[in-house]
Amino acid sequence: HTVFIPVEADGAETRVAASPDTVKRLKGLGLEVVVEKGAGLKSRITDGEYEKAGATIGSADDAGKADVVLKVRRPQAAEQKAYKSGALVIATMDPFGHEDDVKSMAEAGLSAFAMEFMPRITRAQVMDVLSSQANLAGYQAVIDAAAEFDRAMPMMMTAAGTVPAAKVFVMGAGVAGLQAIATAKRLGAAVTATDVRPAAKEQVASLGGKFIAVEDDEFKAAETAGGYAKEMSKEYQAKQAALVADHIAKQDIVITTALIPGRPAPRLISADMVKSMKPGSVIVDLAVERGGNVEGAKAGEVVDVDGVRIVGHLNMPGRISASASLLYAKNLYAFLETMVNKETGEVSVNPEDELVKATLLTHGGSVVHPAFAPKEE
Ligand code: NAD
Repeated sequence: HTVFIPVEADGAETRVAASPDTVKRLKGLGLEVVVEKGAGLKSRITDGEYEKAGATIGSADDAGKADVVLKVRRPQAAEQKAYKSGALVIATMDPFGHEDDVKSMAEAGLSAFAMEFMPRITRAQVMDVLSSQANLAGYQAVIDAAAEFDRAMPMMMTAAGTVPAAKVFVMGAGVAGLQAIATAKRLGAAVTATDVRPAAKEQVASLGGKFIAVEDDEFKAAETAGGYAKEMSKEYQAKQAALVADHIAKQDIVITTALIPGRPAPRLISADMVKSMKPGSVIVDLAVERGGNVEGAKAGEVVDVDGVRIVGHLNMPGRISASASLLYAKNLYAFLETMVNKETGEVSVNPEDELVKATLLTHGGSVVHPAFAPKEE
């Protein structure tokens, strides 16, 4: 069986779905690997490195021969048509709001897997693209903030005077937020953080951050069984806003990472709060692709509001592509490995497997995922 790794059709995507390491591993499973010419260049992986790992360098025409296509983003209509019917396509599919694309993948006979639906269970940790990419995004958010900030992050006591430590506030202490806290601490900032899940409190403290939150009864019940946040009530949001309003006015850097699965990102920072900050302050909105946590943040732009810069870069993991691709490639490899027969090198989909059940969008010509399948009459 043949695995194909294309150049991403979205020119802004800098990541790639295989690394020399995963190519070697795929070969080890008995699979043939074809990498489209130049697929790794934006992640600093040359064709020669893929070849050395055992891949053949091919062209877009090879897509039609592949049994498995590994991608970063959902294939567009033209790509879907180029793949052979029955092929497995494994990518981040971002399917909500793109139901037509899901349908056309079914019509093309593809078995399309959405990696972002991987259950967060121990067995699947190595396949968790949300975590591997959010971790890097959290790091990169602090690096981007530091680059926009006109002052130093650590306290510096020098003969010429003392530079105070930057005050960094991280809103949303999940995977990205915790890495942002750790990164800001390493740079010497004074770090505070907030979240609506009680479990976050200890994690923030263990990284040396100070936890700030409205800890009422709603807070105590805000974590779902899956470990995610619930959408909070209007009343809670008002209490939270009042609590953080004073705090934000005193911060140099605010990093927001708050998301709620299947919902728009919660609005945490109002235009008034932005105005309350000192000129020279920086806000990085990591949720900008999902509607944004910050009023006035613009996707793909750095906005200046009276001297406060709001950073809304898209595809944060793609800004650190060489690292992001290595981890992403490993996530995909680990999942594909579960579908390969080690003796024969055959790839097959077991719809009863819990990882397959959670991620498989289309199969056998139909949309099969419960979130998208046509409801039964
Ligand atoms: P996420 O990306 O969905 O959200 C980011 C953070 O924003 C979360 O911590 C969330 O609680 C927070 N948030 C939501 N609404 C908020 C609001 N109004 N105000 C402030 N914060 C708000 O979450 P995530 O980073 O994917 O992680 C969610 C949880 O899953 C974490 O506890 C994480 O440790 C856990 N997790 C478990 C596994 C595993 O067991 N395999 C893997 C990854 C993550």
